[in-house]
Amino acid sequence: MRSHLALAGLGLALLASAKNWSIIEINDGQWSDVLERDVCVIGGGASGVHAAVSLVDANKTVVVVERNNRLGGHTHTYTDPETGALVDIGVVVYQPKPVVTDFFGKFGVPLLNMSSVPWNVPGQPANKSQPAAMYNTIRRDTDFRDGSEVVREQQPDVVEALARFRQVVSQYDYVLHGYDLPDPVPEDLYTPFGAFVDKYNLTAAFSTIYQVGQGMGDMLHVPTIYVIKYFNAGDEQALYEGYLTHVHGNNSEIYYKAGEYIKPSNVLLESSVISVNRKNTTSGRAEILVSSRDTGLKLLQCSQVVLAIPPHLSNLRGWDLTPEEHAVFSEYITSNGYWTGLVKNVGMNQTVSHYNAAATSPYNIPVLPALYALAPVGTIEDAWWIKFSANNPTLTDAQVQSYVARQINTLQKSVGVPVTEPEWLIFQSHNPFHLQVAPEAIKDGFYKKLNALQGGLGGKMFYTGAAFHTHYSTLLWRFNKEVLLPKILGGSARR
Ligand SMILES: Cc1cc2nc3c(=O)[nH]c(=O)nc-3n(C[C@H](O)[C@H](O)[C@H](O)COP(=O)(O)OP(=O)(O)OC[C@H]3O[C@@H](n4cnc5c(N)ncnc54)[C@H](O)[C@@H]3O)c2cc1C
Repeated sequence: MRSHLALAGLGLALLASAKNWSIIEINDGQWSDVLERDVCVIGGGASGVHAAVSLVDANKTVVVVERNNRLGGHTHTYTDPETGALVDIGVVVYQPKPVVTDFFGKFGVPLLNMSSVPWNVPGQPANKSQPAAMYNTIRRDTDFRDGSEVVREQQPDVVEALARFRQVVSQYDYVLHGYDLPDPVPEDLYTPFGAFVDKYNLTAAFSTIYQVGQGMGDMLHVPTIYVIKYFNAGDEQALYEGYLTHVHGNNSEIYYKAGEYIKPSNVLLESSVISVNRKNTTSGRAEILVSSRDTGLKLLQCSQVVLAIPPHLSNLRGWDLTPEEHAVFSEYITSNGYWTGLVKNVGMNQTVSHYNAAATSPYNIPVLPALYALAPVGTIEDAWWIKFSANNPTLTDAQVQSYVARQINTLQKSVGVPVTEPEWLIFQSHNPFHLQVAPEAIKDGFYKKLNALQGGLGGKMFYTGAAFHTHYSTLLWRFNKEVLLPKILGGSARR
């Protein structure tokens, strides 16, 4: 197949055209639909879908390109085929902010404040009318390497330490709105988080921050800016005032409804970008050639483009990257590994959750790669949450599944139940999770260069998503509203 970049020179036949829709031949016998839209959104996860909805609200025409067979990205809901019970295996909670209630409210998707209703008493069965995330269990700290019980040192002043955390990070409140950092960048922000904890005497808060901040890998050595974006004042507040979650444990519903709103004809699922020309097109618009499963090739022509996928170079093959984009995106040196799912056939006591802890590590943090915990879902018989993390994403899915089975077997032996082969109900890789640059790069103004990409190519190119802010749906939606949308809508790109 020949790239659309050569289309103009081939004298191709425009066979049919309607408003926003035409079909052209791109090579002998190969046909491509042409979709003309105001904005192409690449990536249909939390930030891409929210951006697309907001653009539709602003009377823009959009098309969303998503490689999966569903919208939602890290938001993924399992449905039990026997009972219909729903379990979110990715995004579960939201901070109680207007941007969340507005987005859910727009589509009539019901939210529940998790502190507004009583939870079951630990040791008692789950209340099946509540989301699985509210199933309260007895907690045991166990070293998953050998099944031994770990006794944690009790921290009497956790509440006080969390309040101190909130007060200390309040001087860096701007990190909750994006990466608009002062120059010079404050040293605290690129200091390893372990050193930050020591400096401000936050030891008693660390275990809570670690538990809420799952997926951050070796949190003690991660630059502080990443941690205080990921666990922030809004979390500290929500721990007391309540997080929001979908009333039936079905966070995917918001993406289903949003997809309907954007309209299925504007959402290309199971689609990948093959090549991109944003600079030298006869139309003056960006041209993006996309391969869609079942419907074949499509040529998108858009006045503006929103990139809402992890901007790792390996994920941008076929893009006509500018030297600035290439230089910035090639600075990502690492990301974490994060996998989630549900298993069945474990046979352990379903009122007890085992939390992975290492007897001799600082703060008893588990030795990764490993499961964070093995916790019963409660609303589905003998179904268990899996959240597995690594300091990098190099393990294959099969290796992770094998690790998980071995760790479950270790726990089964330690509690004296038969060793079984766990059965996977659902499994998702979330990799690459949390793209990071080196502390020196943060110090040397990496994020200034990243921000400078916004509105590039003469107002054609815009970016959103976790790499441009943080892995937090609530904060990403606010970033879209505060930063992305004003830039796009105030942009000067040609229609
Ligand atoms: C297990 C887990 C639990 C989480 N829990 C919470 C929570 O409870 N609350 C919360 O607020 N946040 C939570 N987060 C974080 C939250 O999910 C992320 O912050 C958010 O999803 C990031 O949004 P995004 O748009 O950047 O990426 P994503 O939501 O991942 O969206 C990116 C989309 O782009 C698609 N894509 C990637 N590459 C391409 C490509 N080349 N072409 C086309 N499409 C592509 C992906 O399939 C995906 O759909 C959790 C994350 C994980 C992994």
